[in-house]
Amino acid sequence: AKTEGKGTYRFFEASMGAQIRERRSIEHDLRSAIANNELGLAYQPQAQVDTGEVNGFEVLLRWKHPTRGDVSPALFIPIAEESGLILKIGEWVMREACREAASWKRPLTVAVNVSALQLTSDGFVEFVQATLEQTNLPAKRLEIEITETALIRDPNRALVSLQRLKEIGVNIAMDDFGTGYSSLSNLRAFPFDKIKIDRSFIQAVHANPQAAAIVRAVLGLGRGLGLPVIAEGVETSEELRFLGLEGCTEAQGYLFGRPAPIMEFMQLISDNIMV
Ligand code: C2E
Ligand code: CA
Ligand code: CA
Ligand code: CA
Repeated sequence: AKTEGKGTYRFFEASMGAQIRERRSIEHDLRSAIANNELGLAYQPQAQVDTGEVNGFEVLLRWKHPTRGDVSPALFIPIAEESGLILKIGEWVMREACREAASWKRPLTVAVNVSALQLTSDGFVEFVQATLEQTNLPAKRLEIEITETALIRDPNRALVSLQRLKEIGVNIAMDDFGTGYSSLSNLRAFPFDKIKIDRSFIQAVHANPQAAAIVRAVLGLGRGLGLPVIAEGVETSEELRFLGLEGCTEAQGYLFGRPAPIMEFMQLISDNIMV
């Protein structure tokens, strides 16, 4: 048993080394990803629960690596955050998203994920303001999605940035609601305009009574605070029905559309009747 344990340890050590090399390699390649045109944006519709009407889109970063193929944001975003690369990448995302949204014929909203490092970095609010001016996108059409982790990093700076963004008219959504540490006090302390329930709760509403109870409670919380609630990761019409019955007004998920290049939503973004 002793030798077995040692062997396991060596294997573990070797795989740790491989993981570190893998991270370094991804970080290295990510440095040139913007310049090499490897990054792209996918858009996912956000719809009205009762009518199915689309209100806007969330922007999700995509990376097509020359040899690895599509790399998941769940893998490369944390590396981009730890290395600081998210600052440059995040600016690119914001510019592209605002420019794209400004070109739409219909005044739909665009929701951009903003990480902790961006939110608390020097000049972030000025950058957003300048981007809105340069692209001619009205501030009210931009929504930024912030997770609680982003608030924990530097709560004072986060608060100042969020207050200033709100002042210029940008909407602020609390992302991944329910998965953080102290959601309730954060809702009171920060100027959120919307609550986004994490998809882990939505996907369990039918299998797990606890998840259903949590979703109901979050919807009640939203009503009490006067904040709209959007459900993420809605895949089935049963989930949508449940949400409608419980008073959820907005939803996003594969049921309405998978994240895709904006061209696939041509009919939604233009007011032209296509035949
Ligand atoms: P998120 O902000 O919670 O985004 C929702 C994730 O759920 C996306 O994964 C989306 O593709 C996926 N999703 C949407 N609807 C469904 C559904 O019905 N079923 C299932 N199974 N999944 C669904 P994605 O695109 O892989 O992004 C993962 C995470 O990476 C995001 O989670 C976000 O935290 C981060 N991310 C993506 N783009 C950006 C970005 O531009 N900036 C930053 N800072 N983070 C980003
Ligand atoms: Ca999000
Ligand atoms: Ca989520
Ligand atoms: Ca998230």
